[in-house]
Amino acid sequence: MHLRCVDCSTRHPAEMLYACTACGGILEVADPAVLDPAAAVTLGEGDTPLHRADRLAAAIGFAGTVLIKDETVNPTGSFKDRAVAAAVSRARAMGLDGIVCASSGNAGASAAAYAARAGLPCIVVVPALTPSEKVTQIAAYGALLLQVEGHYSNSYRVGLEIARRHRFANVTTTYLNPWGVDALKTVGRELHDATIGAPPDWVLVPTGAGPLVKGVVQGFRERAPARMPRLAAVQAAGCAPVVRAFAAGERVVRAWGAPTTFASGISDPLIGYERDGTHTLDLVRATGGLAVAVSDAAIRSAMQALARFEGILAEPTGASSVAALATLAADGRVAAGARVACLVTGHGFKDLKAWRELPAHTRRLATDEDPAGAVDAMLAERAAQPALPRIAAS
Ligand SMILES: [Zn+2]
Repeated sequence: MHLRCVDCSTRHPAEMLYACTACGGILEVADPAVLDPAAAVTLGEGDTPLHRADRLAAAIGFAGTVLIKDETVNPTGSFKDRAVAAAVSRARAMGLDGIVCASSGNAGASAAAYAARAGLPCIVVVPALTPSEKVTQIAAYGALLLQVEGHYSNSYRVGLEIARRHRFANVTTTYLNPWGVDALKTVGRELHDATIGAPPDWVLVPTGAGPLVKGVVQGFRERAPARMPRLAAVQAAGCAPVVRAFAAGERVVRAWGAPTTFASGISDPLIGYERDGTHTLDLVRATGGLAVAVSDAAIRSAMQALARFEGILAEPTGASSVAALATLAADGRVAAGARVACLVTGHGFKDLKAWRELPAHTRRLATDEDPAGAVDAMLAERAAQPALPRIAAS
């Protein structure tokens, strides 16, 4: 068991390393990672459902098949549990003193929960403007929470400093922690195993730095390399460094400026670890895929469509994959009739402010009001409203 640099192929021992000591490149787990079962920390992450979403497909006006990989049902409400469970388990096996995680919120909630389960202290670093539900969740698990001014890349830098000065494992879910990234291949494996006979043509992945892209690619490479779907890395138009490089035909991803999107989970300008974006772009291109940006307005429509047509409550980042499908189907980059798997990465409970700003049918019943009459009035109001607007292509 060892680690390998994706850039220079140098082999490294199976330790808590975050970068190649020869070239500074990204490390990956080179062969099957064996873990002492006594060190394993789990809350039941992974093995999430794959739903066929015909009503959603109709709402988008897409003639193909839509599959929703619902990662919101993970123990803390996002796919990050897969990576963090593995990284915390590895930290415990190596006898490290604690956990540190720089996060836009979801990985921090995972780190706090799995550290609690492991009996390890945990420090989580988040941007000051992280949605309050994510902040509350992290604090509830007992982690020490540092809120840092500015965008995610500032928090990332603070996380590195803390990990350097304490004997804590850094489980930040960029490409930093190879043990965490390696566990994301379970997403690719599960997608493959659930679609034998009719594999997806496309997998649409909400993308910040991009380890989840790698997870899908690695899972399929392991199971059936000849049946690799094309991957689409989905970013918000207000923070789209990978999309910008893809659209310009550039080989290297450059950092974004100040992000302007409400999708906190993919609001990552990659400042100081631009290499992550380039690695993700390489992986996407290797599958014949693409990178696509979606507007916040399109994400809002996708959130509503997922909830109202399929019963799945997603946070903005989680619904971005569905917004991307609407865009790609409208412009023909995804062919009519294609089979498309959308990863829905995080639960709607993680960002209730985003939901409170969307229209709803609610009414306060007056003490002496007839409930049946009130419902009749509400039904009439709803019938008079136009149907949910088609998800705007962005
Ligand atoms: Zn290297």
